[in-house]
Order: sequence, then C-alpha cells, then structure tokens
Amino acid sequence: MTTQAQNHTTPASRVAKASIDPFAALGLSKNLCSAVVAAGYTEPTPIQQAAIPPILGERDLVASAQTGTGKTAAFALPILELITDPSLDDPRGEVRALILAPTRELAAQIGQSFETYGRFADLRTQVVFGGVKRSIHERALRVPPEILVATPGRLLDLMSTGDVDLDCVEHLVLDEADRMLDMGFIHDMRKIMAALPQDRQTLLFSATMPAEIEALAKRYMHKPARVAVAPVSATCDPISESVYFVHASDKQRALTALLADREMERGLVFTRTKHGANRVASRLDRAGIPAAAIHGNKSQSARERVLAGFKDGSIRVVVATDLASRGIDVHGLTHVFNFELPNEPEVYVHRVGRTGRANQPGAAVSLCAADERPRLAAIERLTRTKLQRLDERPLLASVPAPEHEPPRRQTPRRQPSRRSRSSGGAGGRQRQPRRRSSRR
Ligand code: AMP
Repeated sequence: MTTQAQNHTTPASRVAKASIDPFAALGLSKNLCSAVVAAGYTEPTPIQQAAIPPILGERDLVASAQTGTGKTAAFALPILELITDPSLDDPRGEVRALILAPTRELAAQIGQSFETYGRFADLRTQVVFGGVKRSIHERALRVPPEILVATPGRLLDLMSTGDVDLDCVEHLVLDEADRMLDMGFIHDMRKIMAALPQDRQTLLFSATMPAEIEALAKRYMHKPARVAVAPVSATCDPISESVYFVHASDKQRALTALLADREMERGLVFTRTKHGANRVASRLDRAGIPAAAIHGNKSQSARERVLAGFKDGSIRVVVATDLASRGIDVHGLTHVFNFELPNEPEVYVHRVGRTGRANQPGAAVSLCAADERPRLAAIERLTRTKLQRLDERPLLASVPAPEHEPPRRQTPRRQPSRRSRSSGGAGGRQRQPRRRSSRR
C-alpha cells in the first residue's frame, strides 16, 4: 500500500483535472479518486456533490439524506482526505475519526466502506459493536485505529474502562442520527459527545430531522452547513411501489407467488416480528423457495453469514425484521416486500430504501390486510405517493392453497372478512473554518 501523501496534488492541478474527473472536481486527491473508480463509481451522487466540499472546508454539517443515496462515501471520502493531508502530522497511532451508527450491520458496512475508499492509504479502521466479546475489541484497540466505527452502547462501555482513547478525535459522524434517537441512544450520544475534544468537526446525517436532532445540532455543532438531497418523505425515484390487498391468511401464498417470479433476482422481505420472520422463511423453504431469516435473535456470526450469502448471490431471499433494514446494503437488491406494513410510515421509507440504491431500478411490493389500511394511508400521506393497486386474484390463483393448511373456520366471527379482497380490484384505482493547526 502506498501512503496518501505520495499522491497528493496541489489545488491548482486538481482544478485542471476537474474536467476529466468529477470526484477530483470536488477536491479529492488522486488516491481517493482511484479508489472510487475501483469501486465502480463514475459520478458523485447528489449528496456527495453537496456534502464533500463543505466537509473538506472543515465545516460542521447537517445532512438530510436517507440511505441508498451514497451518504457513506459523502462523509468517508472527505474524512479520509482530511486525515491523510500530507501537510499535517502523521495521522497514525490515534483515533482521528469516530463514526457512530445505530446498528451492528450499519457499523460493519461503514467500516467496509472506509476500507474500500481508503485502500491506498495506510490507515486502520476498527468497528466495535455489542454482541461481540468485549475482549476482542479490547485487544483490537490496544493499537488505536485511525478510524473507529461504533455503536453507542459498546463504545461507552469501552470508554468507561479506558480501553479507548478519544482525545485526538477531529471528526465525529453521527450516522442515521434519527434512528439512534428511535433506538433510545440519545443519552449515550450526548455522553460520547461531551467526552470528545471540543475542537472537532461534527457531521450529522439523518433521514428525518425531528426536534431532538435539531436540538443536538444546536448544542454540539458550530454554524453547520446544511444540505438536503432527498426529502424524508420521498422514496427513491427509480423504485416502483405497489400494493396487493390480501387477507392476512393469504399473505404467505401471495408472497410465494411473487418470489417464484424469475424476474425477482434478489428480494428482501420485511416482517414486523422475529418470530414472523422465522415462520415466513421456513414456509418459503417448504414451498421450494430457499430463504434465510435475519433478526436480532440471531447470533452475530449467523447474521454475517446470511448477509454475505445475500451479497454474493448464493442466498436469493432474506426475511428480515426492521432492525436489519438499516444495515443491509446489497448491490442488485431488486425487490423489497412488505409482508406486513410497519406501524410507523417512516419505517416504510427506510425499508423501501434498501432497493433502488444508487439509482438502480427496484420494486417495493406491499401486502396489505384489511386492518393495515390505516397504515397504508399514513404511508401514502407521508410519501405523497399513491401506491399502485395490483389485482391479487391472478397472483393467488397461481399458487394453490397448500393441502396441509387447516381449512378456514366457518364460524362467522372468525371468518375472514372479504372486504379486503374486493377492495383491491384490478388496477383501476388507480463553525468558521477550523484551525486544525491549533490542534497540533
Ligand atoms: P449509502 O447510501 O452510503 O448506503 O450507499 C448506497 C449504495 O450506493 C452503496 O452500494 C454504495 O456503494 C453506492 N454508491 C455510493 N456512491 C456511489 C456513486 N458515486 N456511484 C455509484 N454508486 C455509489
């Protein structure tokens, strides 16, 4: 590996190269541009265009961006640029950038991204999260990594025993800040921020901007630049969104029919509960559609195995709870299925954001039972999109009801309402620039 310093260019030469390389035009040096090309990117995404220049200018930043927009590179690339700047001290030997993420999967993914983009730089990235033996992290942190990606709970734990030293942190990223808030990490986030050097750059990425996040920005950030690329309420453009109105007891059959479609290359099915994820996956298996379940009750190694299989294409269908929805970034994920609609409409946006990533086309198909109608209405209000209504009858007709399933009860009280079926119908309804030198 070469060091970043060897290939740094002057600002003037960067501008000259700008006409050829759109990443260089943003102020990134040669090594990072090469790493980006090696990752297969040709153009910066809108969040990268908007966020990279102010981050390189060492401003604090509040970015309103959902997953799938390329937001990880939007902060990872300029951070790598800043910490490998050859005019500064040797970057090695201290934690210089700290990234906080809500889930293990997202943390692991961010760690991978830093390794991908920083492949030409001689830097270490370490990821720490709960569910892994603490002693493994203690050992790994004995030689401080320059980039530390962490979930808040495990980080606080390691801080409390002095196993991690954050005195030299210059860049802090709060990724998916709204999700950290939802998951009850607000106090942990505050404690961590209070323990970091004040003279640092803080970058906050969030799909939504609830009042608590704004308060956090106000309290801990200095005149942040603000960028917003995709409003919270908008799912990504190239995604087609549709819904079938089916009775709850017909959902498994409808899903089997949808997954049997050869055009469905790789699909992620969302259920609301862990138990539901296991049940749906094993019924799919029995119907001849191999599927793996992923949720919080699975061991870390089992989750990683499933994610690896999903990414390399050996697993075609994964059934997941929402915990997994933030961390899954699978290139070529063509379909997201909502086996059940989520209680909160924002969760729908995040689920759907797993497909159609980096402007690839994707489809999001929801199965809506009669009692889920209010949830559908809330989703359509939030996204200001009317999901396309599809006719469930040909779908259900293509998969016979399994013989081993007990016949439906005939008692009127338990009999499934037919309203949900008839309502579906065929398609008709339709801070000032930081003085880094002061730290040295
Ligand atoms: P993120 O929003 O960071 O989770 O990124 C979503 C996906 O977009 C990931 O698979 C990235 O590898 C990919 N990606 C990020 N930046 C670009 C780019 N400039 N061009 C193409 N794909 C990208």
